[in-house]
Amino acid sequence: MTTSDTAVERLQDICARVLAATREAGRPAGSVELVAVSKTFEAHEIRPVLEAGQRVFGENRVQEAMAKWPALRDSYPDIELHLIGPLQSNKAAEAVALFDVIETVDREKIAAALAKEMARQNRRPRLFVQVDIGEEAQKAGIAPNEAVAFVQHCRDGHGLSIEGLMCIPPVDEAPGPFFALLQTIAGEAGVEKLSMGMSGDFERAIPFGATSVRVGSAIFGTRPRPA
Ligand SMILES: *Cc1c(COP(=O)(O)O)cnc(C)c1O
Repeated sequence: MTTSDTAVERLQDICARVLAATREAGRPAGSVELVAVSKTFEAHEIRPVLEAGQRVFGENRVQEAMAKWPALRDSYPDIELHLIGPLQSNKAAEAVALFDVIETVDREKIAAALAKEMARQNRRPRLFVQVDIGEEAQKAGIAPNEAVAFVQHCRDGHGLSIEGLMCIPPVDEAPGPFFALLQTIAGEAGVEKLSMGMSGDFERAIPFGATSVRVGSAIFGTRPRPA
């Protein structure tokens, strides 16, 4: 990545690489969606990417997303916004109101809070369960061996329909086995979607069935401050 590259040029490059990896994996073109992760970037940095046609974005903080996206949505009503960061139950109302997809359902308390808010607001964001695929103490997510039961509990206990699973593999290990494990768990849980793969490893996630990849710095550049 050189400094003369723009976010739009990088977006086009990433789209081409997603398509190439999809074909290489023998999967149909268009079967992997790109979630452009815009956390820490400001509206004026996001607009060119919207103008270039990207509509699906990821943010990791409810507060930050609330400050940026309502105005952008006024200009681009067909934006699809994903929450990819940990959700606190006291932010469930805001999250349900703003996001189209919440990828970080990871515990009973959040499932209960989302169910309550979705009923109250009569709004149904699509939901993913986050799995702590490397069983790392510092990472959010349900443990791999509890994930199938948790998905079932979200359905049967809270009436939530879970569309897929999401994971962030450990940073310093080869990601393939973790992507493979998430794919296996999704099969056991009977969910179709897999959100996995980021700037450094999205091409590795696609052969393991990723249906969306979350790419931030490879599009927007190095983040100005820690996310
Ligand atoms: C920040 C973030 C990403 C994007 O990371 P990059 O390495 O910049 O592509 C993806 N997923 C989650 C959950 C994130 O927090």
